Amino acid sequence: MYDLVIRNGTLVTPRGTMQADLAIDGQKIVAFEGEISSRQEVDASKKLIFPGIIDAHTHMELPVSGTRSSDDFFTGTRAAACGGVTTIVDFTVGTPETTIPADIESRREAAQPAGVDYSFHAEVIGWNPSREGEIREAIALSVKTFKFYTAYAASGRQSDAGDLYHAFRVLAKLNGTALVHCEDEEIINSILSQMSAAEQANMANLTVTRPSICEQTAISKVANTAKSTGVRVHIVHVSSGVGLAAVIQARKQGAKLTAETCPQYLLLDSNVYNRKDGHLFSASPPLRTEEDQAQLWEGLANGALDLVATDHCPFTRKQKMWQGSFLDLPYGLPGVETLLPLLYSEGVVKGRIPITAIPRLLCEGPARINGLYPRKGTLSIGSDADLVIFDPKKEWMIHAEDLHMATDFSPYEGVGVRGAVEMTISRGRVVYADGQFQGERGWGQFIV
Ligand SMILES: [Zn+2]
Repeated sequence: MYDLVIRNGTLVTPRGTMQADLAIDGQKIVAFEGEISSRQEVDASKKLIFPGIIDAHTHMELPVSGTRSSDDFFTGTRAAACGGVTTIVDFTVGTPETTIPADIESRREAAQPAGVDYSFHAEVIGWNPSREGEIREAIALSVKTFKFYTAYAASGRQSDAGDLYHAFRVLAKLNGTALVHCEDEEIINSILSQMSAAEQANMANLTVTRPSICEQTAISKVANTAKSTGVRVHIVHVSSGVGLAAVIQARKQGAKLTAETCPQYLLLDSNVYNRKDGHLFSASPPLRTEEDQAQLWEGLANGALDLVATDHCPFTRKQKMWQGSFLDLPYGLPGVETLLPLLYSEGVVKGRIPITAIPRLLCEGPARINGLYPRKGTLSIGSDADLVIFDPKKEWMIHAEDLHMATDFSPYEGVGVRGAVEMTISRGRVVYADGQFQGERGWGQFIV
């Protein structure tokens, strides 16, 4: 006897859709027929079934600019469950003084209350020769992706070209993957140095100080080092058409690059910075133009982009209170709960991407790049029973107050959405149904 059978749903995979029953026993998917009786049944007629969504880029309780992102691991994963996300990949908080395994240890401690499963990218802050042994140890601890920043020298997080060269050689040797935040800080600093205080008091100049050429230049430089060392590099939050073009160009020349973009770069543009509440949209990279959006959608449709993740890093209106300069704001936007509905509504319903792109970009892509496949990211026998039952017809409107993220602000306030998460199942357990979080604190596991 099975534990749970989901009947009559339309399963969506990167390769197509099919009508089938889906049987779960314990925490695993065990069959695609429902002949054998089961303890519990769910009727999913007229509903789509996706593998559980993986948000491969979140920042829960991240210390930044003298504050912390407003979601902790419980509230953030509760919101995730309500949005169909069954796995997040968050980041350790690296420092020049601590070791990478110690960073993993303390982040695992912080993540204990998580309501869905999680994994980590390890931040590498400051390169020194002992990092090689630390990376070896981290990989043994199931952390296979390592994060670097080409920007943020002021907060000490920047890796220079030499750091990246050494780190990439080590990662190539140990079969790890580098994740890189690509913005060229020399260009940013040069522009900033010529900007008056009055100009820095204008939110709209955030985009002026971090133009897309910063992204393009940094990607090209990083890709060059990637190519010569042979390491796999994943470019996070590609925000611009020229940034994406740099990725495509580098691949043609033999660099092993994968790349992601985020909903904010697909759906919002820099005009929001002219609004009275424009400061709430502070993010880096900043929001760009409608033309960039079109090029990123194209990249999702043609496979140039490998995944969509949110860079979920929420702050409340109070934390983002305007202090007189865009340099004083914490940067980041909430998104984990709205990822799937927005990509479906704005992408599939509007005809920009096919339905099969949803599991490719939100499930299988992130699972493969982050070493979680096939335990996660696929509707397959033996995989974790992580899935989303999705109502493609339901219409609703985004309001921050209805969402579960620990912030009073959504960048998509008032946006009409077609398609809604009806039920989320995490390792066989219902964690969201009937409009309510039904999971529990601590249910989430660190994925090994
Ligand atoms: Zn990030």
